[in-house]
Amino acid sequence: MKILIAGGAGYIGSHCVRLLELSGHHPVVVDNLVFGHRGAVGAGIPFYEADLGDVERMTDLLARERVEAVMHFAAFAYVGESVHRPLKYYLNNVAATLHLLEAMQRAGVKRFVFSSTCATFGIVESLPIVESLPQKPINPYGQTKLDVEIALRALCAAEGFSAAAFRYFNAAGAAEDGSIGEDHDPESHLIPLAIGAAQGKRPPLRVFGLDYPTPDGTCLRDYVHVDDLARAHIAALPLLETPGRFVDYNLGTGTPTSVFEVIGAVESVTGLKVPWEPGDRREGDPPALYADSEKARRELGWVPVHTGIRSIVETAWNWHKSHPEGYGGVPTAG
Ligand code: NAD
Ligand code: UDP
Repeated sequence: MKILIAGGAGYIGSHCVRLLELSGHHPVVVDNLVFGHRGAVGAGIPFYEADLGDVERMTDLLARERVEAVMHFAAFAYVGESVHRPLKYYLNNVAATLHLLEAMQRAGVKRFVFSSTCATFGIVESLPIVESLPQKPINPYGQTKLDVEIALRALCAAEGFSAAAFRYFNAAGAAEDGSIGEDHDPESHLIPLAIGAAQGKRPPLRVFGLDYPTPDGTCLRDYVHVDDLARAHIAALPLLETPGRFVDYNLGTGTPTSVFEVIGAVESVTGLKVPWEPGDRREGDPPALYADSEKARRELGWVPVHTGIRSIVETAWNWHKSHPEGYGGVPTAG
């Protein structure tokens, strides 16, 4: 299929582009490069530097490229910033997404895959997190993603769209062939920060809270490999053949892993010490978040290849070791 990848120069989008191409699809990338990297997208893949809010341009592009489905990864995703600058988040995550959907409707493209997040659930009453739990986000970032999910349900029910919303847990790791990986600026994610601290390229890792009601006192999260997330997107494409269909899936391995366990995995994989210091709890961090992905297993046949933190960290280490400057250094996919 010809698939437009919105935000395809970003971390998760670029991994999806790579696997789509390997599986015989034809990705076309649109990214405004506010984040993301041109070098994350293979040289032979059509790339348009454009903003999703530009309805005229997007309509033209969708029609000209004869796009059959859209996978939408583009968003702002810093929870803390969303609390202080909610308008920025509503404009990009909600308004620009609605403009993209409008362009799709004009161009007659009705299949959509959306990057949502476990942050749409807020503070949950039970674990693991199953799709049927109430969604009550506790920050504007999570709310913007839930708003789009709600809009998508309505568009599917009334306007002939079909859509899949994937709620990722903690995306982590790098391409299994080492060609692309994570390069956020600013970086806020635990694994690249721990690796950077071990390499002496970043300050000692600050562990946000050691007094949580968890086995070792640090937060538990569900780290899921970025290539496994990409494979779920590909598996969802047949479901979108049915107009009117809306499906939602929580994507994680279901294994809770603590901050100290991540540090341990980084030390064992790299052979380096991770210097760390105790820090206060980070505002808005629940003690534990992990997924029940039974529905994705059942309906998509989705089985994560990377089930342990060590295997995920190995791919991340492979990327950081071979690309010490990220996309700013050694030539990459582009
Ligand atoms: P990213 O910042 O690496 O990638 C997003 C890309 O979208 C960037 O390349 C950016 O330039 C582009 N973009 C943003 N706004 C745009 C616009 N208006 N027009 C065109 N391009 C635009 O982020 P990521 O970590 O790859 O996350 C991808 C998606 O997954 C996001 O929607 C995020 O909310 C969601 N998500 C990520 C995680 C995670 O752990 N990284 C977890 C849950 C959900
Ligand atoms: N974390 C930490 N120090 C850091 C960054 C993250 O202790 O410098 C912790 C954070 O509190 C959370 C886990 O690591 O429990 C994963 O955080 P990340 O920001 O990677 O993802 P999030 O869970 O916020 O989506």
